Amino acid sequence: MNHNRTSRRRIVASTAFVATLTAAAVLIPVHQADSATRPVTAGTGWKLQNHITHIDTRPWVIAFHDTRSRTALTPYLRKTAAELSYRMAVKVTVTTRIVPTSATKCGPSHTISVRYMSKPNPAYPNHSFGGACALSGAAYSGYMYINSDLWAAGRGYSEAQRMNTIWHEAAHAVGLAHPASCPKDKTGRKPLMCDVNGLKTLVSRRYSTWEVPAFANLRANRNRI
Ligand SMILES: [Zn+2]
Repeated sequence: MNHNRTSRRRIVASTAFVATLTAAAVLIPVHQADSATRPVTAGTGWKLQNHITHIDTRPWVIAFHDTRSRTALTPYLRKTAAELSYRMAVKVTVTTRIVPTSATKCGPSHTISVRYMSKPNPAYPNHSFGGACALSGAAYSGYMYINSDLWAAGRGYSEAQRMNTIWHEAAHAVGLAHPASCPKDKTGRKPLMCDVNGLKTLVSRRYSTWEVPAFANLRANRNRI
């Protein structure tokens, strides 16, 4: 009888909006609260999304909106998935599955659906975006819209910028938010989750030292709720 019914709902959270959805209940184990510990959801240079405190132990899959998205992004996402698996200690696998990508409707459990398209947000034609659904505090499913204009001839984007964008949106898809502050590390690098404006200043191509504690706490918070 420890189940918290009020929190058993899926919530879509993204940088652009937050929408609460009604959805079929899915059972997620509710841990016994430890009065001595609380989830750690933010720190210097990192932050988790509202409604998400942790990642459960179930494996994740990456799927694609259509075959064009799959062809364009599979080589990148294999590397992203390997890094997420390592950082979160949860297996993330790139599949060939076709699952419609939506920013307003939660996708299937533990599935990140990825769409490659030009100007996914017409109001910000240079942007890509991503977000996650939450269930009982755990990341439940995610979505990524990767702007195909990053590959367009004559636009002048670099491979590093394309990679930074994909890694950034993948982190949104499992529950990371933009941090409250954007410090520089010893090598002058800012958090990968900071650059919301075209990723022109970043060179990391991968998660920076600033995202490492975010993933570690997503994992550790399982035992702090
Ligand atoms: Zn972002």
